[in-house]
Order: sequence, then C-alpha cells, then structure tokens
Amino acid sequence: MFRYKKRLGQCFLKDKRYVIKAVEEAKLSKDDRVLEIGLGKGVLTEELCKRAGEVYVIEIDKSLSPYAEKLKEVYDNLNIIWEDALKVDLENIDFNKVVANLPYQISSPITFKLLKVGFDLAVLMYQWEFAKRMVAKEGEKDYGRLTVAVKVRAEPYIISKIPPSAFYPKPKVYSALVKLIPHNKYEIDEFFDTFLRAIFQHRNKTVRSSLISSSKEFGMDKKAMTKLLEGVNESILNKKVFQLNIDEIIKLSNIMKSLLKPL
Ligand code: SAM
Repeated sequence: MFRYKKRLGQCFLKDKRYVIKAVEEAKLSKDDRVLEIGLGKGVLTEELCKRAGEVYVIEIDKSLSPYAEKLKEVYDNLNIIWEDALKVDLENIDFNKVVANLPYQISSPITFKLLKVGFDLAVLMYQWEFAKRMVAKEGEKDYGRLTVAVKVRAEPYIISKIPPSAFYPKPKVYSALVKLIPHNKYEIDEFFDTFLRAIFQHRNKTVRSSLISSSKEFGMDKKAMTKLLEGVNESILNKKVFQLNIDEIIKLSNIMKSLLKPL
C-alpha cells in the first residue's frame, strides 16, 4: 500500500472533472511538449500523454515508480525525471506548456523558475490563498510582492476554485486552477526584484517611509536614502505601497536605479 507523504504535498487529484478541466484549458495537441511537476499516481499524466506529443514529468518520490511503469507500458511519449524539480536544469527539457497539480510547499520557487526559462502557457494548481495573491489588484488586501513579481512576467487567471474533496488525502484548504500566460511587456532585471522585495517589506507605509526603512537593502543608511529621495516626485512618494500599480512600481524602480547608479 502506498504511504502518502505530507511533506511532499502528496494530495492526489481524485475528481476526474478537474483533471479534464486542466488539460482542456491547456488546449493540448500532438504538437505540444508538456512538462508536469509531480507524477503522483499519474491521473493527470495519463490525460497529458493521450493529448500531447511529448510529456515530461519531474517527480521526487521514487516510491511512485510502479505507477510510472504502468503508464509507460501504454504510452511511449512519457519521459520521467526522478529528481527534485527545484534542482533540475529546465533549460535541458524541451517543453512549451506546463500542466501540474503542484506540490504546494514549492509553489513560489517553482513558479519563478518556470517563468525564468519561459513557456507558452501553463495550467497550474495552487492553494486558493496563493492564487488570490497572484491575481490581486492594487489596493486590495492580497496585493503584494508576489502579485507584482508574477504580473510583470505573466498574466494570471483563476479558472476555478477546487474543494478539498477533489483530492485524496483531503487537504485542509481550497485550491485553485490557474492559467499563466507569459508576456514581455516589461523590461525587468535583478535590480527590479531587489527593489520589489525592499518596498513590499512595508506594504502599508508610504513609498517614502518604506524606502527609508528598507535603505539597507540598497546598501545605504536612512539619512542617505532620505537625501536621495529629494530627487523623486512627491506625489508618488506619498502614496501607500499597496496602492501602487505595476506601471508606477516599474517607473519608481527605474528612477531609483538611475539615482543609485552614480553613487
Ligand atoms: N499530479 C498528481 C495528481 O494530480 O494527483 C500529484 C500531485 S501532488 C499535489 C504533488 C506531487 O509532487 C507528488 O507526487 C509529490 O511526490 C511530488 N513532489 C513534491 N515535491 C517535489 C519536488 N520538489 N520535485 C518534484 N516532485 C515533487
């Protein structure tokens, strides 16, 4: 009998309606090469194998290999990589779409790792609260660093809310099926991510006091930051961080970058 490992986020999909929903939203054809993170017992994998040209699955738990072997007897387009998805070099896998019921403990790092290598479309399962933070709008309570870090790279859409009863073992929380479509609307670099971390450490403060409080993140003391901000427009400095929209954050990051350059 299979022993479920909570620490690996092993809540397997048992309600087939959501499996079908996920693959349909991915609009798969035999031209697609799909990446799945987490095989489980292969319920989603099987549908992917039926519809896509090639399927790559990264699974950390080797004790699931009997389920992989069974699928491999039927589908010759299935490739399993027995490794930690966070350690795999995704550049070496030739995929264009991602469909996965993600292990929730790695939701954030795996999402940004995927966004870094790029793909055409992803349909991913997250915890409901995490998904709400991804799609939030400025001014809302769920709006934060995660929202902006995702939205500058991709457009996130919640497709459906999924009850705990859709899984076995039953998780304590609701889940969400999310579609991610990457875009190149913004030019972002390492400085932008540093800036985002710094400013959202104090999301309820004004931009001015948030940047002063986070001055260490920019390698300066509070006094130097206060002086530096004299060159920035008052109206943006007086806004609360959580009220800034993405364009304003990008603009502010670029201003800060140019002000910091000569220092
Ligand atoms: N796709 C299956 C399903 O929908 O029933 C399983 C989903 S389950 C939520 C997550 C799966 O990811 C588990 O099989 C777990 O062993 C695997 N997993 C957990 N952490 C992982 C990691 N770091 N790298 C690869 N797989 C991981």
